[in-house]
Amino acid sequence: MKAVTVITHPLVRHNLTRLRDKRTGPQEFRRVLSEVAALMLYEATRSFAVSPLPVQTPLARAPGFRLRREVVLVPVLRAGLGMLDSILQLIPHARVGFIGLKREETTLRATSYHKSLPPDLSRFEVVLIDPMLATGGSAVAAMDLLSELDARRVRLVNLVAAPEGIRHLHSRYPGLPIFTAAVDRKLNRKGYILPGLGDAGDRMFGTK
Ligand code: URA
Repeated sequence: MKAVTVITHPLVRHNLTRLRDKRTGPQEFRRVLSEVAALMLYEATRSFAVSPLPVQTPLARAPGFRLRREVVLVPVLRAGLGMLDSILQLIPHARVGFIGLKREETTLRATSYHKSLPPDLSRFEVVLIDPMLATGGSAVAAMDLLSELDARRVRLVNLVAAPEGIRHLHSRYPGLPIFTAAVDRKLNRKGYILPGLGDAGDRMFGTK
């Protein structure tokens, strides 16, 4: 699949399996999700542009680099929060925006109930964070909000994707880079990913 990177690092696979396991309770789920997010970010940011920044060591001049653009992390509430802290530890200077989306249980349509983002995203690297890419409705709605603010460089960090969600997202935003730990089989009739891991928000916060 074009523009989809499945991160198959053994530590990612190991952790994803623990997240899928229904016996993993909220406390461990949060910890493992956070760990896996950090591992995935490493791969997802590999193509960030850098500018030369030579430095003086105590002994000599050395070539160096700095990130060319500022970074905005945008977790989609609420499950995206589970991947935020560990990513923020790796990019502590990043700004953080939030998008709150709710999925109507019957129509599966995503509606926005919260948005706090820098007003102009054109000069940022934007990392959209949403662990579950199911129908793609939320991801498309999030991308619509980011596009309204002129976001030009967005990548999605995701844990589990359904083929339907990837197709939907790429039909609206062709070439959007998606970094995921797994592309699963399909959606069930309620829009849950199979085999998936259940409702990520509920698993994280123990709300079911
Ligand atoms: N959201 C989830 O948390 N899980 C799914 O399987 C689908 C959407």
